[in-house]
Amino acid sequence: MSSPRLKLPVIQNWNCHNCGGCCKQHEIEITVEEKERIEKQRWDLDDSIPAGKPVIEKLGLSPTSKRYRLTHQEDGSCVFLNEQGLCRIHAKFGEPAKPLACQVYPYAFHPAGNDVAVSLRFSCPSVVSNLGERIDRQEPAIRKIVEQVLPRRRKTPPAPRLTSRESVSWPDTLKAVAKLSQFFQSDETPIQIRLLRAISFVELIENSRFETIRGERLEEFLDLIFEATVQELPADLELDPVAPSRLGGIQFRLLAAQYARKDTHAESSRGLGHRIALLQSAMKFAIGKGQIPCLQERFAPVDFSRVEAAFGGLPSESEKLFLRYYRVKIEGLHFLGAAYYDIPFAEGFHHLALMFPAILWIARWIAAGDGRTQLKPEDVNEAMAIADHHHGYSPVFGLPHFRSRVKNLSRSQDIKKLISWYSL
Ligand code: SF4
Repeated sequence: MSSPRLKLPVIQNWNCHNCGGCCKQHEIEITVEEKERIEKQRWDLDDSIPAGKPVIEKLGLSPTSKRYRLTHQEDGSCVFLNEQGLCRIHAKFGEPAKPLACQVYPYAFHPAGNDVAVSLRFSCPSVVSNLGERIDRQEPAIRKIVEQVLPRRRKTPPAPRLTSRESVSWPDTLKAVAKLSQFFQSDETPIQIRLLRAISFVELIENSRFETIRGERLEEFLDLIFEATVQELPADLELDPVAPSRLGGIQFRLLAAQYARKDTHAESSRGLGHRIALLQSAMKFAIGKGQIPCLQERFAPVDFSRVEAAFGGLPSESEKLFLRYYRVKIEGLHFLGAAYYDIPFAEGFHHLALMFPAILWIARWIAAGDGRTQLKPEDVNEAMAIADHHHGYSPVFGLPHFRSRVKNLSRSQDIKKLISWYSL
């Protein structure tokens, strides 16, 4: 199969600014070839690595396991991260000598029929802040990485399901994706109205049958329901925020807690005591009273009630950030199918829509911890980087109990309430 066309975001910039954050947060699994390549680099003879410290370790308990990862320093950073926050492999042998996982981050590549859709992980602060060159102008460099990621004999995978009941062809799935993305394109509509419109659009898709609606008819249908949702929710609509239901509040706090966690190697290797502490904090999140359990060192002690008070609305820079976030994630297919626990289009968008209140909940926690009652753009930026670290990557979000939590929030209309409630 020839080299695929890349669908690159045109509204996103990025270059690495060597913050080293990704090298502190992720466990880097390497292939057998990468293990051999790193062994040939002879780090055992390099003074910058403590004598006797292995740079690679085996994963899994089986003696025949062929899975390996890079080892970590005491603080959880990769063994190759130096004191200046730079990669030793990169500095000594150049970027292509690094494991592929390090070269790929923060990109995420997803099949889009015969093409490849490119998304980005907003866990990288440079992605959140839109720093660097426009992504679509970096196509040759991105193509080199894509070619290493794609299997040599690749076949076009089946299209992700549109709803839990039905699938349509790749071209029809991509029409639905393109229409969904249109809710986040330029005009002056507030982000919360756009999200409410997009949820109504997705609900209409969920409640329809597509046996005979294909091709041009599907396109007409999508146009029709798009216009209907825009008319039903005009840009100047005054939202009357309603608190989520009691059960919705519990389910949402448990979800926000999951997004606020820091699952680095250092955290996850803290053993049974750490797991028990997490279980206890989950109970406190379900109750939602008193002080919020400190899920990671970043958060200061704050009461649940402080996060529920109004925070003076969303800063205008954050509006723009969310617009970019939703376009990159939707156009990059970063919410469904292979990219997202094999979840269908409609269900995947409910998960993605919930990122908005989850990020704002975390941003409020950051602001309240600083003694403020108004959000700053930096709070939202940081909260997005914390939450998006998990989006599509932490296995828990694809588990049945988590998926049914999101389905319940959707059925009870609580996702819409949460979006309005945390925009206040
Ligand atoms: S190998 Fe280099 S780029 Fe990859 S995680 Fe380690 S320090 Fe970072």
